Amino acid sequence: MFDIDQNSNKGKILNLLYRKRELTKLDISNEIGVSVPTVISNVNELIREGFVEESGVASSTGGRKPIIVSFIPNSRYAFGVDINPYMARVVLTNLDLEIKYDVEFLIEELKDIKSIMKRISLIVKEALEFTKIDEKKVLGIGFSLQGTVDEENLVLKRAINIGVKDWDFKLFENLFQFPLFIENEANAAALAELKIGIAKEERNLVYISVSSGLGTGIVIEGQLYKGKNKRAGEMGHMTLVPHGKLCRCGRKGCWEMYASQKALLDEFNELSDVKVTKLEQFFNLIMIKNKVAEKCLNNYLNNLASGIQNIVLIFDPHYIVLGGEISGYSDVYLDSLKDKIFDENEFYNRGDFKLFPSRLKRNSSILGAALLPIQKAFLIEQDVI
Ligand SMILES: [Zn+2]
Repeated sequence: MFDIDQNSNKGKILNLLYRKRELTKLDISNEIGVSVPTVISNVNELIREGFVEESGVASSTGGRKPIIVSFIPNSRYAFGVDINPYMARVVLTNLDLEIKYDVEFLIEELKDIKSIMKRISLIVKEALEFTKIDEKKVLGIGFSLQGTVDEENLVLKRAINIGVKDWDFKLFENLFQFPLFIENEANAAALAELKIGIAKEERNLVYISVSSGLGTGIVIEGQLYKGKNKRAGEMGHMTLVPHGKLCRCGRKGCWEMYASQKALLDEFNELSDVKVTKLEQFFNLIMIKNKVAEKCLNNYLNNLASGIQNIVLIFDPHYIVLGGEISGYSDVYLDSLKDKIFDENEFYNRGDFKLFPSRLKRNSSILGAALLPIQKAFLIEQDVI
């Protein structure tokens, strides 16, 4: 648990050390604007509570060498959970989001959220036993969910691709000894990419999560943008083809009907005698220059590029991060995708923004979920606008 008031001197010092990692007491005094004796007494408390330690001396131009105070990433922990249509995954991380325990299980009946949550609570207990981590050192558990998420009221409002509505996570708070947080999967991933992934240095990014559906997470000036009804970023459902294929959302021609992983595999299976169920099989066929696979990939990239062009025109971001399993094969298609995106136009060219495959790969959304309680504890800005 975590009960330090972030506006107190102790809270400010801890937050500073969390961000800067190590400082001398004089540095801390200068940064926070409090006296050195106040710093010393608060640092002593933080040492007793296990958050920081004294770790050697800084160089000095004369006189006594100042002692360095360091933040301890293993002083507290958080759980991240990813629930998707087929699998649930639970990880335990330290404050640097290093994974200490990692388990996944197949979901048989997605609609039975009660038994899924029960199972997760058992895994949480096992994880703490296995790692010998005291439950009191866990800041919370964050869930990454596909769909529209009301994070303040802990409700998954609707998840079209998994066919569920109004999951109230407050009902499950008593399964855990620490606070529970929820966030949309693409938003969680965007957050993780921003804090520890490829986009660490920049503040505007759009994360595109390509899976059975297609979702996006939008970060503007370092803050997650969610909009009035929490559904900003449902760009998978913007119209790519007027009167096109019927989508699960009830509309026609949505981007995800043409640019999700499912769209790619479905098109290939329609045109080919060889059938594939996994992306890996599809890219194996690309490797051996299967003509149908090449044609489908080319079509697919056209569709993906069209949506990305729209995103660029709307947001003009520093970064677009491509996530989901397909990002693991970006060596095969990234150049071609860029050629299609930066096709001649009057507005932007190759230098204007960067397109990257996710660096955190399959961990991006789950680490983003684990980051939710950590952010809350350390008040790393309020990341929703
Ligand atoms: Zn749709």
